[in-house]
Amino acid sequence: MSEHPIEVGFPSLTRWRAGNTGIPYVWRMDGSEPGPHLCVTALVHGNEVCGAIALNALLNELHGGVSVQRGTLTMVFANVDAYLSFDEKKPYQSRALDEDFNRLWSASTLDGERSSRELVRARELRAIYDNVDHLLDLHSMLEPAPPIALAGDTAKGLALARAVGWPTNILIDSGHVAGKRLRDYAEFGDANSPKSALLIECGQHWERDVASNACHAMWRFLRHFDALDRKWLDDLIGDDATPQQREIEVSQVVTMRSERFAWTRPLAGLEVIAKAGTVIAIDGDDAVRTPHDNAVMVMPVPNPKVGQTAVRIGRCR
Ligand SMILES: [Zn+2]
Repeated sequence: MSEHPIEVGFPSLTRWRAGNTGIPYVWRMDGSEPGPHLCVTALVHGNEVCGAIALNALLNELHGGVSVQRGTLTMVFANVDAYLSFDEKKPYQSRALDEDFNRLWSASTLDGERSSRELVRARELRAIYDNVDHLLDLHSMLEPAPPIALAGDTAKGLALARAVGWPTNILIDSGHVAGKRLRDYAEFGDANSPKSALLIECGQHWERDVASNACHAMWRFLRHFDALDRKWLDDLIGDDATPQQREIEVSQVVTMRSERFAWTRPLAGLEVIAKAGTVIAIDGDDAVRTPHDNAVMVMPVPNPKVGQTAVRIGRCR
């Protein structure tokens, strides 16, 4: 059972199954004016419903009279098979079917011999992402925490997070030991390419505000690129002032190394531990300590797995 209540509905995606690109659950709309090729992606993780709610809303609008003005807009429901496997009684299991879809995005993995249901879908979607200029990848978090933008480790990623202007917290990080994320795939992660990507964690997976947060991020992303009518987007976004954003730079990724891993106490998302050297976990025979003062605990995983990220430790810039 979930430790967190499920406060959001899971929309039926049947209407979007056929797509209009030859790939199931992938839609593409072209504007009348030239502009960048944008992509909004949902369901990289199958139980992170917020992006599906946002894309469902966007597609309903685009089928109900709203049109893309500038550039091209592609909408991807990524790991739909995992989403369809969602079971309220074991809601964590539908994150993925065989493996994490968001650790596959290097050429060596995509071109490799290995296969899984996630790799089949990633290979199917790869050509889409190869043609995208700017990506918004909508996610949510295991534990309650304020929304956070994952800008990657390039200046352009940070610039996109600043241009979208929401949420308050921006994480500067280079990902996970276990494999490359979609947001870092190919030219998205290449500092010399103008292409860019932004991953936004919109809140706890099933908390009430997670869907409106995802929509808010999406409308802001589309407004930044003038993809849809500005006045219409202004009304949706409302007159909230752009928050003062802060940058958190990852100073250490704690990867679980042994089966004998235990937190010394539960950590809250974005909590700050004042003193350097504070023991936060024991991994085998080793203590895991905070590397500096005012260490920010980014997305701690209560029950991590060997080889996977347990927590990212950050420092405010
Ligand atoms: Zn996710």
